[in-house]
Amino acid sequence: MALPELDYKQYICGLKEFFSRTKTTPKAMIVTYGCQQNISDSEIIKGMLKQSGYEFCDSYDKADLVVFNTCAVREHAELRVYGNIGALKPVKKQRPNLKIAVCGCMMQQEQVQKQIKQKYRHVDMVFGPSLIYRFPEMLYKSITENIRIFDRSEHPEIVEGLPVQRADNNKAWVTVMYGCNNFCTYCIVPYLRGRERSRDPQNIINEVKELISCGYKDITLLGQNVNSYGKDLEMDYDFADLLKDLNDLEGDFWLRFVTSHPKDCTKKLIDTMAACDKVCKQLHLPFQSGSDRVLKAMNRNYTFDQYVSLTDYVREKMPDIVLTGDVIVGFPGETDDEFEDTVRLVKRVEFDNLFTFIYSKRSGTPAAIMDNQIDDAVKSWRFDRLLSVLHPISKKKNDAYFGKTVKVFVEGESKTDSNVLCGKTEGGKTVDFMADKSLIGSFVNVRIIECKTWNLIGELI
Ligand code: SF4
Repeated sequence: MALPELDYKQYICGLKEFFSRTKTTPKAMIVTYGCQQNISDSEIIKGMLKQSGYEFCDSYDKADLVVFNTCAVREHAELRVYGNIGALKPVKKQRPNLKIAVCGCMMQQEQVQKQIKQKYRHVDMVFGPSLIYRFPEMLYKSITENIRIFDRSEHPEIVEGLPVQRADNNKAWVTVMYGCNNFCTYCIVPYLRGRERSRDPQNIINEVKELISCGYKDITLLGQNVNSYGKDLEMDYDFADLLKDLNDLEGDFWLRFVTSHPKDCTKKLIDTMAACDKVCKQLHLPFQSGSDRVLKAMNRNYTFDQYVSLTDYVREKMPDIVLTGDVIVGFPGETDDEFEDTVRLVKRVEFDNLFTFIYSKRSGTPAAIMDNQIDDAVKSWRFDRLLSVLHPISKKKNDAYFGKTVKVFVEGESKTDSNVLCGKTEGGKTVDFMADKSLIGSFVNVRIIECKTWNLIGELI
């Protein structure tokens, strides 16, 4: 009997029946590149595969299915993806039943799909990020009909209720909106992930409620432009309203969110953050440049002064806020003086930390064809100079914690020493301390006894 189109649940059942009939327990390996949104999408892919009867492995040799969830933000990272896909060619030759799927932003590009179709003939399925819900259907058809499937179509509606296999038992990510309308001139995301689509608030509230009831304590709301949440909803409801409703849920948990755009960071949102005890006092607010001319060329829609008065207001309402940002050095045409405006902004705002990027051309974006691309040596000098300004500020910010007792969510063992536990403060600062492993997944109080540039050392109270 033909299975109805587009119903992923039917195909999950179809796959499960197929594996039970053939008495197989297939293994899948998922390789994820890029941002947290991709990590979150991979958790959905895993959720669907688990329900379909798959177990998971971390080696090509053991896998019956390999999924590459790709990122298109950095062009040179795309080359790595091609290399990894190419490496599977001899594996597929040895084991023709191995299925290979490639998805994510990179696969939304026409020329990429074309190239994979022609030159990587061992790849079975290729699809963009909005078609994740159709993966069980593609996989079912690929296995039962042995066909190759390439699909670049976009599905603008949000598909709710997809199963999720979360990587962590205590920390969870919840996507609240998809896409971006901003078209910053250096960024490819709006071309590949489509326009902004907000999830229905009740669906988000239900998901967070369920996470809390399952014991999740550190929940991050996710969106490419998270604080413009709600603008496309038919009701009068914005991101601040969502935060307030989530904050009102019963339970002992923290709420964070990324990534915010300064132009959508309203006073209402800041006031709501300040008033909500479960909303972490942490704000990641990319500024990208301190030069008004460069900001205009980036299509960012705010100025140096507007950014500074916004962060002043944030600090006035939440003096203990941990403030971080993204910055790009060497945007096309950036002069020495304009770069110094960026340095001035970093000094003025005194960020706790920054994600600093050297501008690199991303083809398909307006900035890639702008005149006056900056010389690599100049970009690298500016990058180093910015870090030399930032590091003492970050250290000073951490030094302020000395002797204080802070609430810490215990995430797990330290990556460098399994005898040490590692956790995060409300502001997202990393704290290492000695304690029993049974505390992993709970909140504890820790007194800070040493302050380093990037982390804090404490002792359990
Ligand atoms: S806000 Fe700008 S940088 Fe962020 S995803 Fe949208 S276009 Fe890209």
